[in-house]
Amino acid sequence: MSTAAELNTRERIDSEAPRLNSMPFFGSGKEEAWSMERYFAQEGVDPLSHAFEGKVAVHPGVGGGMVAPEEVAERLESLLDTPRSGDSVAYVHVPFCETHCLYCGFYNRGYSRGESARYTDTLLRELRLWEGRAAQQEGPVHAVYLGGGTPTALEAQDLERLLKGIRSVLPLANDCEITVEGRLHNFGPEKMEACFAGGANRFSLGVQSFHTKIRQLMGRLASREEVFRRLELLKSYNQAAVIVDLIFGFPMQTMDVWLDDIAVARSANLDGMDCYQLNVYGQTPLGRAIREGKIPPAADIPMQSAMFAAGVEALQKAFYRRLSLTHWARTSRERNLYNLKVKGSANCLAFGPGAGGNLAGWFYLNQSSYQKWQDMVNEGRKPAMMLMRPDARFYFYRAVAAAMEQGWLDMAALEQTYGVQMRSVLQPLLEQWQRAGLVSLQGSVMVLTLAGQFWQVNLSQLMQDFLKHALDTANV
Ligand code: SF4
Repeated sequence: MSTAAELNTRERIDSEAPRLNSMPFFGSGKEEAWSMERYFAQEGVDPLSHAFEGKVAVHPGVGGGMVAPEEVAERLESLLDTPRSGDSVAYVHVPFCETHCLYCGFYNRGYSRGESARYTDTLLRELRLWEGRAAQQEGPVHAVYLGGGTPTALEAQDLERLLKGIRSVLPLANDCEITVEGRLHNFGPEKMEACFAGGANRFSLGVQSFHTKIRQLMGRLASREEVFRRLELLKSYNQAAVIVDLIFGFPMQTMDVWLDDIAVARSANLDGMDCYQLNVYGQTPLGRAIREGKIPPAADIPMQSAMFAAGVEALQKAFYRRLSLTHWARTSRERNLYNLKVKGSANCLAFGPGAGGNLAGWFYLNQSSYQKWQDMVNEGRKPAMMLMRPDARFYFYRAVAAAMEQGWLDMAALEQTYGVQMRSVLQPLLEQWQRAGLVSLQGSVMVLTLAGQFWQVNLSQLMQDFLKHALDTANV
């Protein structure tokens, strides 16, 4: 359901397997000849629409080295005796979708009702594999996210027992945010009440657009009226934060349609909304349909940047609080904890095929093959297939990435915490980005302009790559 997807989290990143939730530290990984200019933006152009030639679509980060496949199980095992420290989240992946939305690169498996109970049984078994181990059991978990796929596709009784199982196995903090991601199609009172009985206190629903024609063109089933009715019903329980994902840049989505999408979401009195840009990937049905001329093209970058700016203006005028550059809260119920923490350095316990986790910066990825994941869990083995060791400055880079998501970077504070002379290292970059209209300096704080916010993912990745090159070269 993710649009984001943020890490596993959804800028989301839309797209690709393995999920971003999942890929918190996903750097470019490419070795290219180093030159200062490759970190620069274009000058003398409108920075909002033309600062770079294209947008980076994955979560920014600096990766460490891969652990050899034959050592993954043993190395992971050795991490389990260390209690988690700092913030922690848990991600539980549900890979099923009832339809394949055209734009989506997250689609993994079709859904059949018979699969729901078996899948839930296996997930509950995986949750118990590390029961009693310090890395899972010691230290509070601050946010749980059921993502997918479409968690709301599961049958009501399975949603309830999965949520109850999570709450009984994981050491959740008293104020733990428990999010169920999903879609409103086939999400009626029985499933809503099952989620409440299981302890869900936040719903993140992929509406994408309220425009019925666009929804149906993209493979979404419910009409604007049905979506709105379901949202009203869910809100009427007054039990949880209800937020929706909206996407700008769909084919046929004019600026008027986009502003209407925001207006309709506002009129539903939700607790918040997330606004993501559409990324069209060639391998998705949408990419193919556009290539073959069956569907008109999606918005280009100048149009997307104008829609981004219009969305920011509309929500600021409506006094929404900005929790990150893409997340907006209307009420105090919406905290967006999972997405904020997972983009920083929080530990992440991950369950389900293709889910990605992180223990003290060691990033692991579960088997993406549904069958292999099931087989390994049923054999009593954690189904991890990949493990990456952290960069020596993992916490520093994650602090940079998390701050960029907020749109500002307190360089003096980071220098003090991590002992890195950011301002002197970054000086040539900061000067050029200021000239290009992407950032401004307020004392020691770098603030993204509106254009910088639109290009945040590029700036964050470039900054981290630049810092890594400079610090590794200087060997400090
Ligand atoms: S429901 Fe649609 S958007 Fe969500 S993960 Fe499935 S295919 Fe993608």
